[in-house]
Amino acid sequence: MSKAAYLQPVRDDTLTERVAQANELLRCCTLCPHECQVDRTNHERGRCRSEAIPLISSYNVHFGEEPPLIGTHGSGTIFFTNCTMRCVYCQNYPISQLGHGEAYPVAKLARIFLKLQKHGCHNINFVTPAHFVPQILQALEMAVNEGFHLPLVYNTSGYESLATLKLLDGIIDIYLPDIRYSDNSHAQAYSKVENYVEHNRAALKEMYRQVGLLECDESGVARRGMIVRHLVLPEKIAGSEEALQFLANELSPRLHVALMSQYFPAYNAPDHPPLDRKITREEYEQIVHLYKRLGFNGWIQAT
Ligand code: SF4
Repeated sequence: MSKAAYLQPVRDDTLTERVAQANELLRCCTLCPHECQVDRTNHERGRCRSEAIPLISSYNVHFGEEPPLIGTHGSGTIFFTNCTMRCVYCQNYPISQLGHGEAYPVAKLARIFLKLQKHGCHNINFVTPAHFVPQILQALEMAVNEGFHLPLVYNTSGYESLATLKLLDGIIDIYLPDIRYSDNSHAQAYSKVENYVEHNRAALKEMYRQVGLLECDESGVARRGMIVRHLVLPEKIAGSEEALQFLANELSPRLHVALMSQYFPAYNAPDHPPLDRKITREEYEQIVHLYKRLGFNGWIQAT
């Protein structure tokens, strides 16, 4: 059985050094592209509304992810509270925007890793982790000292800072980012983020550089690589054609891409037409056609 990336020597610096580097970022927070520069160790909050102690809404053995992530025993999923994006259509808005969750000091977070490992999960899957990367690394170091060895999945909306991702090089085994938009004005209007396209595409390239294409073991369980998710939105708001072209041309046409049709107008979407409706079959089929023509691996969600 292959070892999780962080159990191999991490290039020229150790996990301990990565923890120290990441902790520094909390004092003048630039963990994500918002670069709020607030001191989160001193109870200051930036746009993610999070201080230093991790907030978690739930953790469980999850079977709702792509097949290589869930295998037979499930993915050990940890849902972090708050988010660096503010999507008007977020399906998880009580967690991402209304702050539902509990404080889990780092030692308690480390115990969750070990508990999910004991349940037999194939991996630990961090959902919306960008604003808690230093705390995740601290917890990882503690858990490794207690025998933790599972691969790590970084499950993100894709609004990521390159500096933060570089701290994860050699530590994260599987990246699971979204590619949400191809037009910054849509990202600003519907998710309240600036320059999403540039940050997201640079992040995707960096993730691909770190882990490459998806690799699975003999049972079909993911051990390393990248899966990109794309949610098709009404009236081409997600810029699906450009997004798929980018993935094929700048990453690889052999990439695993999960194309999703499940959009529905959650949260404040009814007040933001054209996001006040589901996508039509015709809208989706056009993108499915391009997806197939480009030749991706992965999954096409049914309508
Ligand atoms: S992680 Fe939070 S505080 Fe830090 S830069 Fe991003 S939004 Fe601001």
